Amino acid sequence: MSTEKFTILQLGHPHLRLTARNVENIQSDNMQNFIDDLLHFVSEVNGMGIAAPQVDHSLRLFIMSSRPNIRYPHAPSMQPTVIINPEIISVAKKIEKDWEGCLSVPSIRALVPRHQSIRACYTSRTGEHVEATYSGFLARVFQHELDHLNGLVFTDRVEDNHDMMAEQEWLELISQR
Ligand code: ZN
Repeated sequence: MSTEKFTILQLGHPHLRLTARNVENIQSDNMQNFIDDLLHFVSEVNGMGIAAPQVDHSLRLFIMSSRPNIRYPHAPSMQPTVIINPEIISVAKKIEKDWEGCLSVPSIRALVPRHQSIRACYTSRTGEHVEATYSGFLARVFQHELDHLNGLVFTDRVEDNHDMMAEQEWLELISQR
């Protein structure tokens, strides 16, 4: 998948496996333009989130942009949020499995175990330190995107191969709910 500005790296591309480096020049024109482009891109491709390494920028930055769609009718609506240099402060012990997909892993869906809620901090695009608590779907998106900054994709966390499905089968499954 690609547009003028970005191509999404696909599973197997070695750059998806890198540990991304901290963003140090948040206020620079280059970085602010990159953020604007990425915000535009994630809305164009209807993503719930996207991490900079997915478009071949090895930076600790991602966007969360949850909103309901056909695949995730119960996803909460939120303003797209730019998350820079994120860290998880603490996690709930409770682990939940739910379905995930990824723009970098086309045609595959899988049940992925994640902490049900997390306390996290990050830097905003205006340079402010933010602390936030996420639970459920948003905690899941945050953990999924943070994994990209550490060279992980969601299939790395699947516990059982039987928890993986082809997109087509998965769409049939959720349409029967
Ligand atoms: Zn992903």
